Amino acid sequence: MRILITGAAGFLGSHLCDRLLAEGHEVIGLDNFITGNPDNIAHLMGNQKFSFYKHDVSNYIFVRGKVDAVLHFASPASPNPQSPSGYFNLPIQTMKAGALGTHNCLGVARAHNARFLLASTSEIYGDPAVHPQPETYTGNVDPAGTRAVYDEAKRFAESLTMAYHRAHGLDTRIVRIFNTYGPRMDLEDGRALPNLLKQALLGQPLTVYGEGKQTRSFCYVDDLVEGIVCLLYSNEHMPVNIGNPREMSILEFAEAINRITGNPAGITYVPDARSARDPQRRQPDITRAREILRWEPNIDLDEGIRRTVPYFKQKLDIA
Ligand code: NAD
Ligand code: UDP
Repeated sequence: MRILITGAAGFLGSHLCDRLLAEGHEVIGLDNFITGNPDNIAHLMGNQKFSFYKHDVSNYIFVRGKVDAVLHFASPASPNPQSPSGYFNLPIQTMKAGALGTHNCLGVARAHNARFLLASTSEIYGDPAVHPQPETYTGNVDPAGTRAVYDEAKRFAESLTMAYHRAHGLDTRIVRIFNTYGPRMDLEDGRALPNLLKQALLGQPLTVYGEGKQTRSFCYVDDLVEGIVCLLYSNEHMPVNIGNPREMSILEFAEAINRITGNPAGITYVPDARSARDPQRRQPDITRAREILRWEPNIDLDEGIRRTVPYFKQKLDIA
């Protein structure tokens, strides 16, 4: 296939480029670098099967030649209000990438009669009242809240994707991605793993927000990419959760990082670091992924952290 990947210079987009090129596909990457990094795809320059365009998906997208699939991953993704690349600080750009960007990408897919895959998120469930979250749960999101720029843009993106599927018969997929980590995450974007692993490798105390009782379920990037590729090759049109169901409190997560890295500096509790409502519990119900895609993650947290450490050390310039 000839595959267009938006957000190609980001964390997940760059791993998808690698994976799909390795499978023999041709990949067209597109990114405006608003939160991504050219370093993430530098190794692909010169690859005959890879081309790249610096472009904002919120503007009309023209691709020369046939396109067989469009994977729309372009969007700011960090909820940390203290990070310049967090969506709190890019509110309009985030809404435009999710709304106008999705419309433009669907337009490309329709023009080429191509398959379309939307990167949605567990954030569409908001601060969930149902636990764990199955795809049938419709969520708990405040449309006027500060997190809404991300959550509602993704919810709109899902609705628009389903509208193109139902009205035009477009061959669409929706993946609801739960917290994912690994090499090529932006060390400065303020998400839990980059913050905590960076602090651990620098021998600093880990900043746990609140009491650290809020839970997340962290998936290693290779597992996630495998799930996305399975979904792309499937015939499933309704949303599918992809993530690791191993739920843990953020305190437990921080303690695990200290243990794995041998950081003796412990934990520091930071009160009210998140101004908006921090979802209190998050765990994917992956029954559908198991049944439809025959997929489940198999890299545990210790192994995933160990695989991520060399990248962080290289970025931090420590041996
Ligand atoms: P990222 O910030 O590393 O990557 C996003 C990429 O999109 C960046 O390279 C950025 O420059 C690009 N981008 C943003 N707006 C753009 C625009 N208007 N035009 C062109 N490019 C634009 O984040 P990520 O973690 O790789 O997330 C990728 C996708 O996966 C996002 O859509 C995000 O919502 C979704 N997602 C990620 C996670 C996760 O845990 N990493 C969880 C749920 C959903
Ligand atoms: N968090 C934390 N310390 C940090 C960064 C994040 O305790 O230095 C917490 C944050 O409050 C949230 C969880 O870790 O409860 C996951 O945050 P992340 O930014 O990774 O994404 P989210 O799951 O909130 O979208």
